[in-house]
Amino acid sequence: MTAMIKNLLTWPLIIFLLLLTLILSSYYGAYQLSRSITNSNKHLETITLANDISSFVKRAEGHLFLYLTLGNKSDRDKFFSRIDSLKINLSKLKTNNKFDVYSSREAANEMLYLGMGLIDYKDKSISNNSDFLFESHKENLILFHRLSSEIRVAGVDLINQTTTHLNKSSEAILEQSKIIYILLLLSGVTCLLLIVLQIKKRTDDLEYSKKLAYDLDKISNTDELTKIGNRRSFNSVFVTEWQRAIRNKKSIALMIIDIDFFKFFNDTYGHIEGDKCLTTVAQTLRSCMKRPADSIWRYGGEEFAIILPDTDNAYNLAEICRKAIENLQIPHRSSTVSKVVTISIGVCICTPDQETNSISFIINVDKALYRAKNSGRNRVCSDNDKDDTDVVVISTTNNDTRQ
Ligand code: GH3
Ligand code: MG
Ligand code: MG
Repeated sequence: MTAMIKNLLTWPLIIFLLLLTLILSSYYGAYQLSRSITNSNKHLETITLANDISSFVKRAEGHLFLYLTLGNKSDRDKFFSRIDSLKINLSKLKTNNKFDVYSSREAANEMLYLGMGLIDYKDKSISNNSDFLFESHKENLILFHRLSSEIRVAGVDLINQTTTHLNKSSEAILEQSKIIYILLLLSGVTCLLLIVLQIKKRTDDLEYSKKLAYDLDKISNTDELTKIGNRRSFNSVFVTEWQRAIRNKKSIALMIIDIDFFKFFNDTYGHIEGDKCLTTVAQTLRSCMKRPADSIWRYGGEEFAIILPDTDNAYNLAEICRKAIENLQIPHRSSTVSKVVTISIGVCICTPDQETNSISFIINVDKALYRAKNSGRNRVCSDNDKDDTDVVVISTTNNDTRQ
């Protein structure tokens, strides 16, 4: 019972576990990859921001530029009011120098708000007169300068940090991918191997069962001593051939053969010699069959049956069989009909239809055999030898009794 459960569970369980590993490892891989992609996207956004800041800082060189950090509303308001006053003071300069003011900008990082303003002071005269500007906005300008240098450093730092992080995470992704691929490959190959092994085992089992069934069938249908078919298989083959003859509207002939005075043979030469004699007779009778459809069976102790489908010259063939056994010249000194082993044969032929009774047909063959026995042995008798009729009639009822 335990072995059966083990056998039932082992293979499907192993395959199930492997498939589970396969699915989990691919799920884990997909999860890791998507997480890494999300992280990379975040870092890319940060890098873009840092790049923007740096490029702005770079572009602003030779200009005055203003920054305000922190997302505090009052700080932003202060910044814009300062820009407004700066604009007013710039207008007071009455110069044609262009200037620009950048309004607030929201970075990807929500905590960081940048307000930027830019005044073009390339013109030396303005630059020289910048005291006016600086004096009125000294406080602002100091703040702007400090913040600009801070943001430049922070930007570069941010770029370095994110680059390092990206490199690390891409290496990690690569490593993870390798492990996942190896896992997938191993699971796949193992699954395949197990399935192939399982298929092979099942095929071998099937082949073995087929062979076993074939051997068993052969053993159960073969006579151990003479190696020809036994009575059991005769019964089923005879029914099959009989039905075939009905279907094809063809004749079927049956011989029943009996060794003469075989009891005396055993008594004279012993059972071992008797067995040898039986085997020789069986094999000799078999060698008399010339067509594949003809078949021979051990019908009883020292009796044999021969089925001859679609055979008109069954009587001649019976005579050939009788002579073949006689020609073996197996000594039989206790026989009263000959000095050698002989056989008697009953043979009948008919073309059956649905109304014809197969049992009556066999009984008729048996009767013919006994006629052969009673009329002196070592001979062939058929239905035609009956005194009362010349016609082979196989009726559904049979009132004859054994002679
Ligand atoms: P008849 O000519 O009337 O057929 O006489 P018979 O002696 O052949 O017939 P009977 O039925 O009296 O005896 C048949 C004998 O066949 C008896 C039995 O010992 C023998 N016999 C049956 N099967 C075997 C077998 O497998 N081996 C051997 N050695 N003898 C067997
Ligand atoms: Mg007998
Ligand atoms: Mg006999």
